[in-house]
Amino acid sequence: MKNNTPLFGGIEGGGTKFVCAVGTRPDDIRAETRFPTTSPEETMAQAVDFFKQQERNFGELASIGFACFGPLDPNPTSATYGHILPTPKPGWTNADVVGPLRSAFGIPIIFDTDVNGAALGEWRWGKGQGLNTFIYLTIGTGVGGGAYVEGKLLHGLIHPEMGHILLRRDKNKDPFDGACPFHGDCFEGLTSGVAIEKRWGQRGSNLPEDHPAWELEAEYIAQALADYSFTLSPQRIIIGGGVGSLEHLLPRVQQKTRDFINRYIQSPVILEDIENYIVHPGLGNLSGVLGALALAEQALPEN
Ligand SMILES: [Zn+2]
Repeated sequence: MKNNTPLFGGIEGGGTKFVCAVGTRPDDIRAETRFPTTSPEETMAQAVDFFKQQERNFGELASIGFACFGPLDPNPTSATYGHILPTPKPGWTNADVVGPLRSAFGIPIIFDTDVNGAALGEWRWGKGQGLNTFIYLTIGTGVGGGAYVEGKLLHGLIHPEMGHILLRRDKNKDPFDGACPFHGDCFEGLTSGVAIEKRWGQRGSNLPEDHPAWELEAEYIAQALADYSFTLSPQRIIIGGGVGSLEHLLPRVQQKTRDFINRYIQSPVILEDIENYIVHPGLGNLSGVLGALALAEQALPEN
């Protein structure tokens, strides 16, 4: 253990569980804990307690990266910076989640969406290394995407909501109305784990690989990936999450995305090498918490 290496805290704040870690990089995680997401007060107090304990064990943290479920306000100049925006999750609307960390630690707190954090983790140590524009998409209980564009994370007005884009749906083939509480049949409403369970009456993990659910799933995901390819011109698209990480789904998504693009983007990686254009995360299911550490690292002066 080198004392001159800054030590970082990372929080992956999910809708059902929080993962907190202290370390410097993937092969140097000094401590990790996970606990269920309850009320904002209780959940953030647990995070504070964990980091206080680790500071006693390993010394002071240089900064904390907090990659959280959204929607949220990541703009440091905004009055509601560090707050969760209106969300269906009970008790979390307008919760100030960065405040308790700020009060407890006199160090920079870098706050961003879970998917932006995961994108940054993949850029730092995973499949985004060496790229300057790419997307990290997660398809699980919900659907969301983070974008790294021209060398930095994209925020824009608030932050991208890639899970809520509208897709073309054949109601004869798929009469399911969708599961999004805001839009019904948006991308998330059609493809999330929740949508799969509502449409087919059982969890995706119980559906065999040849079930028609997966052709439909691949069709929708491919539409979305074609849309992102046209709008952001990513050099790569990384797909993770419980549904997005399914091995049997990836080749179908790759092929259908290429079909939707239909040679309109004349790039060899799409025309001849789609396996390297649409990929699974390099960090597996650690993208989230490592992404939070990568966010923390952004607070260093050289970044
Ligand atoms: Zn939606």
